[in-house]
Formats: sequence, structure tokens, C-alpha cells
Amino acid sequence: MVERGFIANRLCTNCGGKFLGSAPVIRKVIPPVTQEEFEALRGLCPKCRLKFVKSRSVPA
Ligand SMILES: [Zn+2]
Repeated sequence: MVERGFIANRLCTNCGGKFLGSAPVIRKVIPPVTQEEFEALRGLCPKCRLKFVKSRSVPA
């Protein structure tokens, strides 16, 4: 079964932009995201997720 037309548009908690709630959450980041961060990421649009991931990444 495929769920169609039931994917809610969500508002980014950071920039207020709309995004699909089905957008995948980045999990494979170093250092790994905590459960708390994961929950926070779910409220962010893909753009802000990228920013978030970049901002927290440790320079090599
Ligand atoms: Zn955003």
C-alpha cells in the first residue's frame, strides 16, 4: 500500500519554510546525532538540516 496525498507539509522550526514531512532525516553524521538532536532535526527543512549538520561538524 502506498500512502498518497497524506504527506503533511510541515513548517521548519528554524526558517518557517514548508517542507515535506517525509523528507529523510540525516542520520549518518559525525559525530552521530543524539536522540534529542534527531528530534530537533525532524522539525527542520532539508536546508536547515544541512546547515545544522555543517555547523556541528568537527573540523578535521
Ligand atoms: Zn528551514
